[in-house]
Amino acid sequence: MKKEESAGKKLLDSLSFEPKSAWDRMDSDEKRQAFDLAEGYKAFLTAAKTEREANTWLLAEAEKFGFRPADQVSGRLSPGTRICFDNRGRSAALVVVGQQPPSQGFRLVGSHIDSPRLDLKPRPLYEDSGLALLKTHYYGGIKKYQWPVLPLALHGVVVLASGEKRQICIGEAAEDPVFCVTDLLPHLAYDQMEKKAKEAVSGEALNVVVGNLPYPEEEGVKERVKLAILKLLKDTYGFSEEDFISAEIEVVPAGTARDVGFDRSMIGSYGQDDRVSAYTSLAALLKVNQPQKTAICLFTDKEEVGSMGNTGARSRFLENVVAELVYREGYNPVDLGIRKALSRAEAISADVNAALDPSYQEASDKRNSALLGYGLNVTKYTGGRGKSGSSEASAEFTAAIRDLLNRHNIPWQPGELGKVDEGGGGTIAQFLADLGMEVIDAGVPVLSMHAPFEVTSKADVYAAYRAYKVFWEPEK
Ligand code: MN
Ligand code: MN
Repeated sequence: MKKEESAGKKLLDSLSFEPKSAWDRMDSDEKRQAFDLAEGYKAFLTAAKTEREANTWLLAEAEKFGFRPADQVSGRLSPGTRICFDNRGRSAALVVVGQQPPSQGFRLVGSHIDSPRLDLKPRPLYEDSGLALLKTHYYGGIKKYQWPVLPLALHGVVVLASGEKRQICIGEAAEDPVFCVTDLLPHLAYDQMEKKAKEAVSGEALNVVVGNLPYPEEEGVKERVKLAILKLLKDTYGFSEEDFISAEIEVVPAGTARDVGFDRSMIGSYGQDDRVSAYTSLAALLKVNQPQKTAICLFTDKEEVGSMGNTGARSRFLENVVAELVYREGYNPVDLGIRKALSRAEAISADVNAALDPSYQEASDKRNSALLGYGLNVTKYTGGRGKSGSSEASAEFTAAIRDLLNRHNIPWQPGELGKVDEGGGGTIAQFLADLGMEVIDAGVPVLSMHAPFEVTSKADVYAAYRAYKVFWEPEK
């Protein structure tokens, strides 16, 4: 005989809110789909470790699914048309034209495709103590002590004075060499171990070991290890020392994205902040065919250093895209149409947030932190220490998003970044809000965020994919 639920239990279930494990809310078919999505996602993470590589990969994938560069599509844009805009190879926008004209507003999911790393300095190569090394200047928020003693790869581009480009990717193929930053042995590290963690490894110590074999001895030839490396670079890649100045070479962890756990339920990789959002939003957009509102998928650069520059979220790129859409719609005057489109737009700032780490719970308010595997993390506001620098979604827009997710049975959870006084962080949300859009942050929770090996749950990655998809095109 089925036991009657007590009145108190009924009341508790109907009035209280407690996020549930996303895994518990998925049937076996959805679990299989989550694992399938993770395979494509891991391939993307392995192939695309810089903003340039990610941009190229995402645009190539979009073109396979019918997106064409905007300047190759002439005239008015009919509903369902798929176009793309490449912003200098480091940022892009993909558009599916809606049933309603763009001036009626659009729905945007925006992410960033840059990740913390070590960049080479303009004059990186030097010789010391029998070794050739490369000096770096780290990019974004890293814990410097996490970067020594890891196999590292060099990715990037060298632009010669002639304008010719040389693509560099060394350290990923099985037969490739790798590079590394060294660290002091424990026996001699008494002074280092006494230092604060942020001082234990200095920025100027993040030097990458690249060679040991000297050029043959000759009268008047000094720094022969450096010379041998210069010769090798010239012979193999066709560039010399001055060309480093017009290069963008990034030092990133070598190797592939991996399954994590006996149950393979998680993904471990460099660069999941924020390529998890880029990948899931692209995968979602590829399934969007006839949206009511025009769907825009935005990939930005430079988020990790403040979204500055002509490829960052603070640039005019998005406005230029909207201008083109409004112009192609035939709205007159175009300038008013742009303002109408932006002020009627709704956006998800798709970015990761920290998951509660069971080993470091003291940094978070447990009741307001996302858990790994509990679904999409909806972040009403970012910032920290008094909501400083925060972009906060309105109660109205938050309610609409909550309703959308609940109606589609998509696992989600609210969460903020850490304890009130512990710090905080921002995303591109504030720059979208500046343009007049309704914006909310929603993304995948991550363990070890900003580390060379970040961890996500396949359930959350799948929830993000589903959320972005129904935001653009709700299911009936
Ligand atoms: Mn991010
Ligand atoms: Mn970040």
